[in-house]
Amino acid sequence: MNYRKWIVVFLAGTICISLSYTPLFSAPLRVVSSTTDIAYIAREIGKGGLVKISTLAPAKVNLHYLDARPDYIQKTSRADILLLLGAEAESNWLPLVIRQSRNSKVRVGGSGYCDLSRSISLLEKPTGKISRDMGDFHLSGNPHYWLDPLNGIQMARNIMECFSKVDAKNQKRYKKNLKSFEKKIMNLTQSLLTLMKPYAGKTVVDYHSEFIYLTRRFRLKLPFHIEDKPGFPPGPKRIREVTKLIRQNKISLILTTPWNHTSAAAKVAKKSGAKLIILPIQTSSSPESNTYPKMIENCIKTLIKYLQ
Ligand SMILES: [Zn+2]
Repeated sequence: MNYRKWIVVFLAGTICISLSYTPLFSAPLRVVSSTTDIAYIAREIGKGGLVKISTLAPAKVNLHYLDARPDYIQKTSRADILLLLGAEAESNWLPLVIRQSRNSKVRVGGSGYCDLSRSISLLEKPTGKISRDMGDFHLSGNPHYWLDPLNGIQMARNIMECFSKVDAKNQKRYKKNLKSFEKKIMNLTQSLLTLMKPYAGKTVVDYHSEFIYLTRRFRLKLPFHIEDKPGFPPGPKRIREVTKLIRQNKISLILTTPWNHTSAAAKVAKKSGAKLIILPIQTSSSPESNTYPKMIENCIKTLIKYLQ
């Protein structure tokens, strides 16, 4: 074979190899979400077949207390993007899942590591020296921020940015989806604020500090939590203390979740005469809460029922 023929063979081979590695259509991004609320919002941003989402934590569990299960590790090992609440909400199990997945894309600092707490104004940030004696899981501030629907919008913006970074060619579509999500949530927030107007300034308390973002957005007061430290069940002294405070301040509602429906919360309710309300605050944790907007709406409408 002469020199020219070698060139032709070389070029033909190069073209064949290039074609075999060029996808004919773009595959959806493989996204893993730590929670059902994040998964709902991410599906909205990736609408139109742009993403394929799987969720790690089921809807009806306490997000702070999970194990790094093999199926979580397997899902994470194949992900292009990992979406998480951050701010220590999943610190008990997610770092181990990430490590065991051996997927460099979703490690801290990787192209697909997407911590949604970034650019959220966290409440209850501890001051001074931080130690585990101050409680579990809230050492960077309160991570239950998804219960403020305007934080839901901020989460959606962060998700749009994470998707666009990895999949720049679809950025316009992610942005368009974000716009329609923002509009839907703004309208919902406005209508719920109107419904809540007559109850502005009323006082409630919660068991674990899960409701501070919801009550703040919808103008209720929440002066203390029954747990004096997040994740530490209250002892007899704390139970006596909060029972007295609830009676003195004529607080009629104690809020908790199905996964924090503890005997201590029930005891305080019984002794103080306040009503214990169990609210499912995670998307799909009850039939009335099967989407993120419906979950927020269900919380507010249930509160209204008991605040009257
Ligand atoms: Zn918590």
